[in-house]
Amino acid sequence: KEERIVVLETENAVLHLKLAEYQGLAGRSTNEVLQLYAAHGQQMKFQRSSVVTQLHGAIKKRLKQDLKSLHSFALELSKDFQRQSKTCLYQVLAAVQGIQLQNEAMQMFQIKAFDLEQSLQEVTERYEKEKQKRKALHNSLIELRGNIRVHCRIRPLLPFDDAAGHSQDRQRNFSEKVAYAADDETVLVKCSRPGHASVNKTFQFERVYNDLESQDAVFADVAPLLTSLLDGYNVCIMAYGQTGSGKTYTMLGPQLEGNLAFAIEEESELGIIPRATQEVFRLISEKPPGSYWVEVSVVEVYNNEIFDLLAKDSCGKVFGVKRDVVTTREGKSDVPLLTHETVENASEFLHLVNKGLQLRVTHPTLVHAHSSRSHLVVTLTITTVVFGDNFGTLWEDEQTSQRLNKEASFTFPQKMRDNKSTSSSRASSPVQLEATEKMKQVKTRLQLVDLAGSECVGMSGVTGAALRETSFINRSLSALADVLGAIAEQRAHVPYRNSKLTHLLQDSVGGDAKLLVMLCISPGQKYLTESMQSLGFGTRARQVQRGQVKKKNFPVPSKGK
Ligand code: ADP
Ligand code: MG
Repeated sequence: KEERIVVLETENAVLHLKLAEYQGLAGRSTNEVLQLYAAHGQQMKFQRSSVVTQLHGAIKKRLKQDLKSLHSFALELSKDFQRQSKTCLYQVLAAVQGIQLQNEAMQMFQIKAFDLEQSLQEVTERYEKEKQKRKALHNSLIELRGNIRVHCRIRPLLPFDDAAGHSQDRQRNFSEKVAYAADDETVLVKCSRPGHASVNKTFQFERVYNDLESQDAVFADVAPLLTSLLDGYNVCIMAYGQTGSGKTYTMLGPQLEGNLAFAIEEESELGIIPRATQEVFRLISEKPPGSYWVEVSVVEVYNNEIFDLLAKDSCGKVFGVKRDVVTTREGKSDVPLLTHETVENASEFLHLVNKGLQLRVTHPTLVHAHSSRSHLVVTLTITTVVFGDNFGTLWEDEQTSQRLNKEASFTFPQKMRDNKSTSSSRASSPVQLEATEKMKQVKTRLQLVDLAGSECVGMSGVTGAALRETSFINRSLSALADVLGAIAEQRAHVPYRNSKLTHLLQDSVGGDAKLLVMLCISPGQKYLTESMQSLGFGTRARQVQRGQVKKKNFPVPSKGK
């Protein structure tokens, strides 16, 4: 056992030794492996670094190439830029030069414009002066012709002139023509009495129209009065004559069948009233817009009473309302509450007048078949807005200027105050107008009158309403003759207030107002007495004018009588 233990211990020792030896061996080989690893790692590192170098080289090369092309591109670019900037510079230079040239031209234009402005101002001043001169001259011309003048129109013989006259006078031809226009200033009337040789009588007037003369020709002599109207003078045009002598035809135009309205459509046949209105609007259209406006009133004087033919009740229905004429504190005639309609053009006016005329027929108090039993007065009131500084110079004539200054007021028609006007033709707004203190308003009147028939119906056979009518007509027409007579004799008192008719016409008859009496004459033998009466009225009225011209020391062209 012991021996065995020793052997085993020896064997154990040997085995330990061998273990140690193997352990050493294993350690060494581990080292070797580590070394090999390290060597391998180094080799790998080395290998990697050479790829990088290669890559680096390639990149470098590439970069160099890129840089080169970039450089050449930049060079190109800068060259291009230089070229472009050069052309731009040229363009800018050219533009600057152009602007300089334009500036010079502009300066030239400015100088020219200034010169033109100056000459325009001079021309305007001259024009204003000429305008004043024109007004003064026009007024002297009108005054030379007479502030009251009488024209006479002889109408043609008409079929109804043939109707049998007085039965006891059968032997005489009633339709024979006895009144002629000998020339354009002379009326010749053949007066014959049974058993006597006929005597020729002549009458002189400012103008005589023969039976062939048109409405146009008649209006041509009326038109200058309308220039006076816009120059600030009141104007009255009245037709005088017996029924059927052509008063309504001359003043309005031919009447519509069975109707007192007149035919607006027949332009060439239109009478003085529509033509005068057209002319007034034409004259206004030449003035600065907004400086003039026109109102119209239509009244009828019947049995010495005034009826407003444009009055409306609350339902807008028209009926003839009685009005009165009064004298204002300034001594003007005025009809309180009278309807004044603002009109913007001639056709508006004509329709209004026609409406009024139609009422004349249906008027309940009028029992006459033909309206010649009443006087028709159509009034156009023209209001002018005048600014303070111009006011004195608008009317050259000192007197007119003073007169108008006195009349001027600051009141505006309701329509203007309410600013309800729909018209665009009025440039300045009423509000603005009222704000200007220096502004004044001047009214002038155009009165157009179709008088009642002047025939003196034998009073004996006439009774009732017809007698009343006739006596009222006779009274009003003789009041008119009295007024003209008083003016002729330059009497201090002119009896305007003796009748409503003359009171109504007060402002446009006498003074520096212009009156034109249009005598209408029927040429037939049948109407001889009435025609002589009318010619007598005209002759007396005409003396008024001659008296006035003498007073003013105008050279009167003498007419051989
Ligand atoms: P008055 O109003 O004076 O009573 P009117 O104007 O009614 O007279 O005229 C009577 C008639 O004579 C009407 O038929 C009218 O057309 C006609 N007449 C008047 N004057 C002329 C004229 N110058 N040319 C043609 N017809 C006329
Ligand atoms: Mg008539």
